[in-house]
Amino acid sequence: MNYDAVVVGAGVLGLSTAYHIKLENPAEKVLLIDKNPGPGQGNSGKSAECFRNIFYSEINTLLADTSIDFFFHVQYEKGFDLGIRKVGYLFLTAEEELKLFKKEHIKKGQVKVYEREDLKKLLKLNLNVEKDKEAQMLNLKNIQKGFQIIKAGYLSVSKLIEFYESEFKRLGGETLYRTKVKKLLMKPKEELNIIGEPHIWQDAEVVGVETEKGKIYAKKTIVATGAWSNTLLHPVGLETYMNPKKRQLFVLKAKTKELKDLLYSKGFNKEGILPFTILPKPLIWMRATMEENTFWIGCADEIGRSFKLEDDPKPEKYFYIYGIRPVLEKYFPQFTNQEPLNMWAGQYAVNSYDGCPIVYEESGVIYLTSATDRGIQISPSLGKIASAVYFGEEYAELFGGRKFKVSDVGIRKRKIEYELVL
Ligand SMILES: Cc1cc2nc3c(=O)[nH]c(=O)nc-3n(C[C@H](O)[C@H](O)[C@H](O)COP(=O)(O)OP(=O)(O)OC[C@H]3O[C@@H](n4cnc5c(N)ncnc54)[C@H](O)[C@@H]3O)c2cc1C
Repeated sequence: MNYDAVVVGAGVLGLSTAYHIKLENPAEKVLLIDKNPGPGQGNSGKSAECFRNIFYSEINTLLADTSIDFFFHVQYEKGFDLGIRKVGYLFLTAEEELKLFKKEHIKKGQVKVYEREDLKKLLKLNLNVEKDKEAQMLNLKNIQKGFQIIKAGYLSVSKLIEFYESEFKRLGGETLYRTKVKKLLMKPKEELNIIGEPHIWQDAEVVGVETEKGKIYAKKTIVATGAWSNTLLHPVGLETYMNPKKRQLFVLKAKTKELKDLLYSKGFNKEGILPFTILPKPLIWMRATMEENTFWIGCADEIGRSFKLEDDPKPEKYFYIYGIRPVLEKYFPQFTNQEPLNMWAGQYAVNSYDGCPIVYEESGVIYLTSATDRGIQISPSLGKIASAVYFGEEYAELFGGRKFKVSDVGIRKRKIEYELVL
Protein backbone atom coordinates (compact mmCIF):
# COMPACT_ATOMS: atom_id res chain seq x y z
CA MET A 1 0.00 0.00 0.00
CA ASN A 2 1.35 3.42 -0.92
CA TYR A 3 0.25 6.77 0.46
CA ASP A 4 1.41 10.36 0.47
CA ALA A 5 0.96 10.48 4.23
CA VAL A 6 0.34 7.87 6.85
CA VAL A 7 -0.78 9.27 10.20
CA VAL A 8 -0.27 6.94 13.16
CA GLY A 9 -2.63 7.69 16.06
CA ALA A 10 -6.28 8.70 15.78
CA GLY A 11 -6.39 10.88 18.88
CA VAL A 12 -7.28 14.56 18.55
CA LEU A 13 -3.79 15.45 17.31
CA GLY A 14 -3.58 12.76 14.61
CA LEU A 15 -7.17 13.44 13.54
CA SER A 16 -6.63 17.19 13.36
CA THR A 17 -3.42 16.76 11.35
CA ALA A 18 -5.01 14.30 8.92
CA TYR A 19 -8.03 16.61 8.52
CA HIS A 20 -5.89 19.71 7.93
CA ILE A 21 -3.71 17.97 5.33
CA LYS A 22 -6.80 16.92 3.37
CA LEU A 23 -8.35 20.36 3.78
CA GLU A 24 -5.23 21.97 2.36
CA ASN A 25 -5.02 19.58 -0.55
CA PRO A 26 -7.76 16.95 -0.99
CA ALA A 27 -5.62 15.24 -3.65
CA GLU A 28 -3.16 13.98 -1.02
CA LYS A 29 -3.63 10.28 -0.31
CA VAL A 30 -3.79 10.09 3.47
CA LEU A 31 -4.25 7.07 5.73
CA LEU A 32 -5.02 7.35 9.45
CA ILE A 33 -4.16 4.27 11.53
CA ASP A 34 -4.99 3.33 15.11
CA LYS A 35 -4.66 0.17 17.15
CA ASN A 36 -8.05 0.78 18.76
CA PRO A 37 -11.40 -0.10 17.17
CA GLY A 38 -12.21 3.57 16.56
CA PRO A 39 -10.88 7.13 16.84
CA GLY A 40 -10.32 8.98 20.11
CA GLN A 41 -10.10 5.88 22.30
CA GLY A 42 -6.61 6.69 23.62
CA ASN A 43 -6.11 9.56 26.02
CA SER A 44 -8.29 11.97 24.08
CA GLY A 45 -11.37 10.08 25.23
CA LYS A 46 -10.28 10.34 28.86
CA SER A 47 -9.84 14.08 29.17
CA ALA A 48 -11.79 16.61 31.20
CA GLU A 49 -12.71 18.33 27.89
CA CYS A 50 -11.94 21.85 29.06
CA PHE A 51 -10.49 24.84 27.26
CA ARG A 52 -9.20 28.30 28.13
CA ASN A 53 -7.57 31.00 26.02
CA ILE A 54 -5.00 32.28 28.51
CA PHE A 55 -1.77 30.52 29.36
CA TYR A 56 1.49 31.82 30.77
CA SER A 57 3.45 31.30 27.56
CA GLU A 58 2.39 33.39 24.60
CA ILE A 59 2.63 30.43 22.30
CA ASN A 60 0.22 28.30 24.29
CA THR A 61 -2.11 31.30 24.51
CA LEU A 62 -2.00 31.76 20.74
CA LEU A 63 -2.48 28.04 20.06
CA ALA A 64 -5.44 27.84 22.44
CA ASP A 65 -7.07 31.12 21.45
CA THR A 66 -7.07 30.32 17.72
CA SER A 67 -8.24 26.77 18.43
CA ILE A 68 -11.17 28.03 20.49
CA ASP A 69 -12.11 30.36 17.62
CA PHE A 70 -12.08 27.27 15.42
CA PHE A 71 -14.40 25.42 17.84
CA PHE A 72 -16.78 28.39 17.88
CA HIS A 73 -16.69 28.51 14.07
CA VAL A 74 -17.51 24.80 13.79
CA GLN A 75 -20.42 25.04 16.21
CA TYR A 76 -21.89 28.49 15.58
CA GLU A 77 -21.10 29.02 11.87
CA LYS A 78 -20.85 25.53 10.39
CA GLY A 79 -23.69 24.29 12.60
CA PHE A 80 -21.86 21.15 13.82
CA ASP A 81 -22.74 20.81 17.50
CA LEU A 82 -19.57 20.37 19.57
CA GLY A 83 -21.46 20.59 22.84
CA ILE A 84 -19.67 23.82 23.80
CA ARG A 85 -20.50 25.31 27.21
CA LYS A 86 -18.88 28.68 27.79
CA VAL A 87 -18.73 28.37 31.55
CA GLY A 88 -15.36 30.05 32.17
CA TYR A 89 -12.30 28.93 34.10
CA LEU A 90 -12.11 30.09 37.71
CA PHE A 91 -8.82 30.17 39.61
CA LEU A 92 -9.32 30.48 43.37
CA THR A 93 -6.01 31.81 44.63
CA ALA A 94 -4.18 32.17 47.90
CA GLU A 95 -2.42 35.24 46.49
CA GLU A 96 -3.70 38.69 45.60
CA GLU A 97 -2.24 38.29 42.12
CA LEU A 98 -1.60 35.38 39.85
CA LYS A 99 1.42 35.38 37.52
CA LEU A 100 -0.73 33.84 34.81
CA PHE A 101 -2.64 37.07 34.27
CA LYS A 102 -1.40 40.43 33.11
CA LYS A 103 -3.14 43.71 33.98
CA GLU A 104 -4.39 44.03 30.35
CA HIS A 105 -6.32 40.77 30.67
CA ILE A 106 -8.39 42.34 33.41
CA LYS A 107 -8.65 45.75 31.71
CA LYS A 108 -9.81 44.17 28.47
CA GLY A 109 -12.44 42.10 30.29
CA GLN A 110 -10.77 38.80 29.38
CA VAL A 111 -10.46 37.99 33.07
CA LYS A 112 -13.01 38.85 35.74
CA VAL A 113 -11.85 39.32 39.31
CA TYR A 114 -13.90 38.18 42.31
CA GLU A 115 -13.30 39.48 45.81
CA ARG A 116 -13.65 37.28 48.88
CA GLU A 117 -17.17 38.49 49.71
CA ASP A 118 -18.35 37.70 46.14
CA LEU A 119 -16.91 34.22 46.33
CA LYS A 120 -18.46 33.54 49.71
CA LYS A 121 -21.87 34.64 48.45
CA LEU A 122 -21.71 32.81 45.11
CA LEU A 123 -20.08 29.55 46.18
CA LYS A 124 -20.75 29.18 49.91
CA LEU A 125 -17.20 27.98 50.35
CA ASN A 126 -14.82 28.21 53.27
CA LEU A 127 -12.29 30.93 52.48
CA ASN A 128 -10.51 30.91 55.84
CA VAL A 129 -9.06 27.45 56.14
CA GLU A 130 -5.83 28.48 57.88
CA LYS A 131 -7.40 28.61 61.34
CA ASP A 132 -8.37 24.93 61.06
CA LYS A 133 -5.82 22.51 62.65
CA GLU A 134 -6.34 19.81 60.00
CA ALA A 135 -6.09 22.34 57.19
CA GLN A 136 -2.76 23.50 58.66
CA MET A 137 -1.54 19.90 58.49
CA LEU A 138 -2.61 19.84 54.85
CA ASN A 139 -0.63 23.06 54.20
CA LEU A 140 -3.73 24.83 52.94
CA LYS A 141 -3.94 28.58 52.52
CA ASN A 142 -6.84 31.00 52.74
CA ILE A 143 -8.47 32.00 49.48
CA GLN A 144 -7.87 35.67 48.69
CA LYS A 145 -9.30 36.15 45.23
CA GLY A 146 -10.98 34.54 42.24
CA PHE A 147 -9.90 35.11 38.63
CA GLN A 148 -12.23 33.87 35.93
CA ILE A 149 -11.06 33.47 32.33
CA ILE A 150 -14.09 34.32 30.21
CA LYS A 151 -13.19 32.64 26.89
CA ALA A 152 -13.16 29.22 28.44
CA GLY A 153 -15.37 26.25 29.15
CA TYR A 154 -15.81 22.70 28.02
CA LEU A 155 -16.98 20.81 24.95
CA SER A 156 -17.80 17.25 24.01
CA VAL A 157 -14.60 15.52 22.90
CA SER A 158 -16.55 12.68 21.30
CA LYS A 159 -18.33 15.26 19.11
CA LEU A 160 -15.03 16.94 18.25
CA ILE A 161 -13.61 13.56 17.24
CA GLU A 162 -16.71 12.86 15.17
CA PHE A 163 -16.25 16.22 13.45
CA TYR A 164 -12.58 15.64 12.59
CA GLU A 165 -13.13 12.07 11.41
CA SER A 166 -16.25 12.76 9.33
CA GLU A 167 -14.65 15.78 7.63
CA PHE A 168 -11.44 13.82 6.98
CA LYS A 169 -13.43 11.02 5.35
CA ARG A 170 -15.64 13.46 3.40
CA LEU A 171 -12.44 14.90 1.92
CA GLY A 172 -11.39 11.40 0.82
CA GLY A 173 -9.20 10.39 3.77
CA GLU A 174 -8.94 6.69 4.65
CA THR A 175 -8.91 5.09 8.10
CA LEU A 176 -7.52 1.79 9.29
CA TYR A 177 -8.49 0.85 12.84
CA ARG A 178 -7.71 -2.24 14.94
CA THR A 179 -4.23 -2.10 13.42
CA LYS A 180 -1.17 -1.76 15.58
CA VAL A 181 1.94 -0.25 14.06
CA LYS A 182 4.79 -2.55 15.10
CA LYS A 183 7.59 -0.30 13.90
CA LEU A 184 8.61 2.50 11.59
CA LEU A 185 10.18 1.25 8.38
CA MET A 186 13.60 2.71 7.76
CA LYS A 187 15.43 2.42 4.45
CA PRO A 188 18.44 3.99 2.76
CA LYS A 189 17.48 6.64 0.22
CA GLU A 190 19.43 4.61 -2.33
CA GLU A 191 19.02 0.91 -1.69
CA LEU A 192 21.96 -1.33 -2.60
CA ASN A 193 20.46 -4.54 -1.20
CA ILE A 194 23.42 -5.20 1.08
CA ILE A 195 22.77 -7.11 4.32
CA GLY A 196 22.17 -4.83 7.32
CA GLU A 197 21.09 -1.73 5.40
CA PRO A 198 20.96 1.15 6.20
CA HIS A 199 24.70 1.38 6.94
CA ILE A 200 26.36 4.35 8.59
CA TRP A 201 27.50 5.76 5.26
CA GLN A 202 24.01 5.70 3.77
CA ASP A 203 21.36 8.41 4.08
CA ALA A 204 18.40 6.70 5.65
CA GLU A 205 14.83 7.75 6.25
CA VAL A 206 11.51 6.40 7.43
CA VAL A 207 9.44 5.23 4.47
CA GLY A 208 6.29 4.05 6.20
CA VAL A 209 5.17 1.61 8.86
CA GLU A 210 5.06 -2.10 9.50
CA THR A 211 1.70 -3.08 10.96
CA GLU A 212 0.27 -6.34 12.20
CA LYS A 213 -1.47 -6.51 8.81
CA GLY A 214 1.52 -5.74 6.59
CA LYS A 215 3.71 -2.90 5.40
CA ILE A 216 2.39 0.50 4.40
CA TYR A 217 4.62 2.91 2.51
CA ALA A 218 4.27 6.67 2.57
CA LYS A 219 6.24 9.72 1.47
CA LYS A 220 5.88 11.03 5.01
CA THR A 221 4.97 9.28 8.23
CA ILE A 222 3.25 11.35 10.88
CA VAL A 223 3.59 10.02 14.40
CA ALA A 224 0.81 11.29 16.65
CA THR A 225 0.80 8.48 19.16
CA GLY A 226 0.81 10.69 22.27
CA ALA A 227 1.91 8.82 25.37
CA TRP A 228 2.99 5.82 23.26
CA SER A 229 5.43 7.80 21.09
CA ASN A 230 8.60 6.42 22.69
CA THR A 231 7.69 2.90 21.55
CA LEU A 232 7.85 3.92 17.87
CA LEU A 233 10.44 6.69 17.77
CA HIS A 234 13.10 5.45 20.19
CA PRO A 235 13.80 2.22 18.25
CA VAL A 236 14.76 4.28 15.17
CA GLY A 237 16.89 6.68 17.18
CA LEU A 238 14.51 9.63 17.16
CA GLU A 239 13.88 11.70 20.30
CA THR A 240 10.40 12.37 21.68
CA TYR A 241 11.14 14.90 24.45
CA MET A 242 8.13 13.39 26.18
CA ASN A 243 7.33 11.06 29.03
CA PRO A 244 3.95 9.62 29.94
CA LYS A 245 2.41 10.25 33.37
CA LYS A 246 -0.83 8.95 34.84
CA ARG A 247 -3.70 11.37 35.42
CA GLN A 248 -6.97 10.52 37.11
CA LEU A 249 -10.51 11.77 37.08
CA PHE A 250 -13.21 11.10 39.70
CA VAL A 251 -16.92 11.59 39.08
CA LEU A 252 -19.20 12.62 41.94
CA LYS A 253 -22.96 12.89 41.68
CA ALA A 254 -24.57 16.09 42.95
CA LYS A 255 -26.81 14.11 45.31
CA THR A 256 -27.48 16.62 48.06
CA LYS A 257 -29.16 20.02 47.86
CA GLU A 258 -25.87 21.71 48.81
CA LEU A 259 -24.03 19.99 45.95
CA LYS A 260 -26.82 20.80 43.47
CA ASP A 261 -26.69 24.46 44.55
CA LEU A 262 -22.93 24.45 43.99
CA LEU A 263 -23.24 22.76 40.60
CA TYR A 264 -25.85 25.29 39.48
CA SER A 265 -23.98 28.28 40.91
CA LYS A 266 -25.40 31.47 39.44
CA GLY A 267 -23.51 34.64 38.63
CA PHE A 268 -20.56 33.27 36.69
CA ASN A 269 -21.90 32.55 33.21
CA LYS A 270 -25.08 32.42 31.11
CA GLU A 271 -25.29 28.65 31.55
CA GLY A 272 -25.86 29.16 35.28
CA ILE A 273 -23.30 26.57 36.38
CA LEU A 274 -20.05 26.43 38.25
CA PRO A 275 -17.08 27.32 36.01
CA PHE A 276 -14.17 24.91 35.71
CA THR A 277 -12.65 25.68 39.12
CA ILE A 278 -9.09 25.34 40.41
CA LEU A 279 -8.27 25.51 44.10
CA PRO A 280 -5.00 26.81 45.61
CA LYS A 281 -2.09 24.37 45.94
CA PRO A 282 -2.25 21.33 45.53
CA LEU A 283 -4.39 22.63 42.63
CA ILE A 284 -7.38 20.33 42.77
CA TRP A 285 -9.73 21.09 39.89
CA MET A 286 -13.39 20.41 39.35
CA ARG A 287 -15.72 20.60 36.43
CA ALA A 288 -19.50 20.79 36.80
CA THR A 289 -21.15 18.66 34.14
CA MET A 290 -24.72 19.79 33.79
CA GLU A 291 -25.61 17.09 31.23
CA GLU A 292 -25.16 14.42 33.92
CA ASN A 293 -25.53 16.36 37.16
CA THR A 294 -22.02 15.47 38.25
CA PHE A 295 -18.69 16.99 39.23
CA TRP A 296 -15.53 15.72 37.52
CA ILE A 297 -12.65 16.16 39.93
CA GLY A 298 -8.91 15.67 39.56
CA CYS A 299 -5.45 16.78 40.56
CA ALA A 300 -2.18 16.58 38.63
CA ASP A 301 0.28 15.14 41.16
CA GLU A 302 3.94 15.59 40.29
CA ILE A 303 6.70 14.43 42.66
CA GLY A 304 6.13 10.81 43.63
CA ARG A 305 4.08 10.01 40.54
CA SER A 306 6.31 8.02 38.22
CA PHE A 307 6.83 8.58 34.54
CA LYS A 308 5.89 5.33 32.87
CA LEU A 309 3.80 4.15 29.97
CA GLU A 310 0.61 2.36 30.96
CA ASP A 311 -1.64 0.97 28.25
CA ASP A 312 -4.62 0.78 30.54
CA PRO A 313 -3.90 2.89 33.64
CA LYS A 314 -6.19 2.25 36.57
CA PRO A 315 -7.68 4.98 38.76
CA GLU A 316 -6.76 4.77 42.45
CA LYS A 317 -9.70 5.36 44.76
CA TYR A 318 -7.35 6.01 47.66
CA PHE A 319 -5.91 8.94 45.69
CA TYR A 320 -9.33 10.54 45.95
CA ILE A 321 -10.14 9.45 49.51
CA TYR A 322 -6.78 10.31 51.12
CA GLY A 323 -5.41 12.85 48.66
CA ILE A 324 -8.16 14.94 47.13
CA ARG A 325 -11.10 14.64 49.52
CA PRO A 326 -9.52 16.04 52.70
CA VAL A 327 -8.46 19.17 50.82
CA LEU A 328 -11.69 19.58 48.89
CA GLU A 329 -13.81 19.25 52.04
CA LYS A 330 -11.91 22.03 53.78
CA TYR A 331 -12.74 24.56 51.07
CA PHE A 332 -16.07 23.07 50.00
CA PRO A 333 -17.78 21.37 52.97
CA GLN A 334 -20.53 20.38 50.51
CA PHE A 335 -18.29 17.42 49.53
CA THR A 336 -17.93 16.03 53.07
CA ASN A 337 -17.98 12.20 53.04
CA GLN A 338 -18.97 12.02 49.37
CA GLU A 339 -17.57 9.09 47.38
CA PRO A 340 -16.90 8.86 43.66
CA LEU A 341 -19.56 7.20 41.58
CA ASN A 342 -17.19 6.54 38.70
CA MET A 343 -13.50 7.14 37.94
CA TRP A 344 -10.97 6.64 35.21
CA ALA A 345 -7.32 7.26 34.45
CA GLY A 346 -5.38 8.24 31.38
CA GLN A 347 -1.94 9.61 30.66
CA TYR A 348 -0.49 12.99 29.84
CA ALA A 349 2.36 13.12 27.32
CA VAL A 350 4.52 15.49 29.35
CA ASN A 351 7.28 17.74 28.10
CA SER A 352 8.85 18.59 31.46
CA TYR A 353 11.46 20.83 29.90
CA ASP A 354 9.37 23.79 28.78
CA GLY A 355 5.82 22.47 29.07
CA CYS A 356 4.96 23.33 25.48
CA PRO A 357 4.02 21.16 22.52
CA ILE A 358 6.49 19.89 19.94
CA VAL A 359 6.18 19.47 16.18
CA TYR A 360 9.27 18.54 14.21
CA GLU A 361 10.29 16.76 11.05
CA GLU A 362 13.25 14.51 10.70
CA SER A 363 14.21 11.68 8.37
CA GLY A 364 10.77 11.28 6.81
CA VAL A 365 8.91 11.51 10.11
CA ILE A 366 6.75 14.35 11.35
CA TYR A 367 6.21 14.07 15.06
CA LEU A 368 3.78 16.02 17.19
CA THR A 369 3.10 15.64 20.87
CA SER A 370 3.71 16.85 24.41
CA ALA A 371 0.39 18.57 24.64
CA THR A 372 0.50 17.73 28.38
CA ASP A 373 -2.83 18.89 29.86
CA ARG A 374 -4.09 20.74 26.80
CA GLY A 375 -4.12 18.52 23.72
CA ILE A 376 -7.85 18.92 23.16
CA GLN A 377 -7.90 22.68 23.39
CA ILE A 378 -4.93 23.23 21.06
CA SER A 379 -5.64 20.40 18.63
CA PRO A 380 -6.93 22.56 15.74
CA SER A 381 -3.84 24.80 15.76
CA LEU A 382 -1.33 22.02 16.37
CA GLY A 383 -2.85 19.95 13.55
CA LYS A 384 -2.63 23.01 11.29
CA ILE A 385 1.05 23.45 12.19
CA ALA A 386 1.82 19.77 11.52
CA SER A 387 0.04 20.09 8.18
CA ALA A 388 2.17 23.15 7.31
CA VAL A 389 5.31 21.16 8.20
CA TYR A 390 4.05 18.37 5.94
CA PHE A 391 3.69 20.78 3.01
CA GLY A 392 7.13 22.27 3.71
CA GLU A 393 5.78 25.69 4.67
CA GLU A 394 7.66 28.07 6.93
CA TYR A 395 4.49 29.55 8.43
CA ALA A 396 1.15 28.02 9.32
CA GLU A 397 -1.93 30.16 9.05
CA LEU A 398 -3.89 29.47 12.20
CA PHE A 399 -7.66 29.83 12.33
CA GLY A 400 -8.64 33.48 11.90
CA GLY A 401 -5.55 34.26 9.81
CA ARG A 402 -2.82 34.62 12.45
CA LYS A 403 0.57 33.44 11.15
CA PHE A 404 2.76 31.06 13.13
CA LYS A 405 6.39 30.21 12.41
CA VAL A 406 6.41 26.43 12.56
CA SER A 407 10.03 26.20 13.68
CA ASP A 408 9.04 27.96 16.94
CA VAL A 409 7.60 24.66 18.21
CA GLY A 410 10.30 22.56 16.55
CA ILE A 411 13.55 21.47 18.16
CA ARG A 412 16.52 23.09 16.44
CA LYS A 413 15.17 26.65 16.20
CA ARG A 414 12.72 26.34 19.09
CA LYS A 415 11.59 29.74 20.30
CA ILE A 416 9.34 29.25 23.22
CA GLU A 417 8.65 30.55 26.71
CA TYR A 418 8.45 28.11 29.59
CA GLU A 419 4.85 27.26 30.51
CA LEU A 420 4.10 28.00 34.12
CA VAL A 421 2.69 25.05 36.01
CA LEU A 422 0.15 26.59 38.34
C1 LIG B 1 -7.43 12.78 33.00
C2 LIG B 1 -7.06 13.71 31.85
C3 LIG B 1 -7.67 14.96 31.77
C4 LIG B 1 -7.35 15.82 30.70
N1 LIG B 1 -8.02 17.01 30.59
C5 LIG B 1 -7.81 17.81 29.50
C6 LIG B 1 -8.59 18.99 29.32
O1 LIG B 1 -9.45 19.34 30.11
N2 LIG B 1 -8.32 19.76 28.22
C7 LIG B 1 -7.37 19.42 27.29
O2 LIG B 1 -7.18 20.17 26.32
N3 LIG B 1 -6.64 18.29 27.44
C8 LIG B 1 -6.83 17.48 28.52
N4 LIG B 1 -6.10 16.33 28.68
C9 LIG B 1 -4.99 16.06 27.76
C10 LIG B 1 -5.49 15.50 26.43
O3 LIG B 1 -6.37 14.43 26.65
C11 LIG B 1 -4.29 15.06 25.60
O4 LIG B 1 -3.35 16.11 25.52
C12 LIG B 1 -4.73 14.67 24.19
O5 LIG B 1 -5.77 13.74 24.22
C13 LIG B 1 -3.54 14.12 23.43
O6 LIG B 1 -4.01 13.72 22.17
P1 LIG B 1 -3.14 12.76 21.27
O7 LIG B 1 -3.84 12.66 19.96
O8 LIG B 1 -1.72 13.22 21.29
O9 LIG B 1 -3.10 11.37 22.08
P2 LIG B 1 -4.15 10.15 22.17
O10 LIG B 1 -5.54 10.62 22.21
O11 LIG B 1 -3.69 9.29 23.27
O12 LIG B 1 -3.97 9.43 20.78
C14 LIG B 1 -2.86 8.62 20.48
C15 LIG B 1 -3.40 7.44 19.67
O13 LIG B 1 -2.31 6.68 19.17
C16 LIG B 1 -2.70 5.33 19.14
N5 LIG B 1 -1.50 4.50 19.09
C17 LIG B 1 -0.47 4.51 19.97
N6 LIG B 1 0.48 3.65 19.59
C18 LIG B 1 0.04 3.06 18.45
C19 LIG B 1 0.58 2.07 17.58
N7 LIG B 1 1.76 1.50 17.81
N8 LIG B 1 -0.15 1.68 16.51
C20 LIG B 1 -1.37 2.26 16.26
N9 LIG B 1 -1.94 3.20 17.06
C21 LIG B 1 -1.22 3.61 18.12
C22 LIG B 1 -3.50 5.16 20.43
O14 LIG B 1 -4.36 4.05 20.35
C23 LIG B 1 -4.24 6.49 20.52
O15 LIG B 1 -5.54 6.42 19.98
C24 LIG B 1 -6.39 15.42 29.72
C25 LIG B 1 -5.79 14.17 29.81
C26 LIG B 1 -6.13 13.31 30.85
C27 LIG B 1 -5.47 11.95 30.90
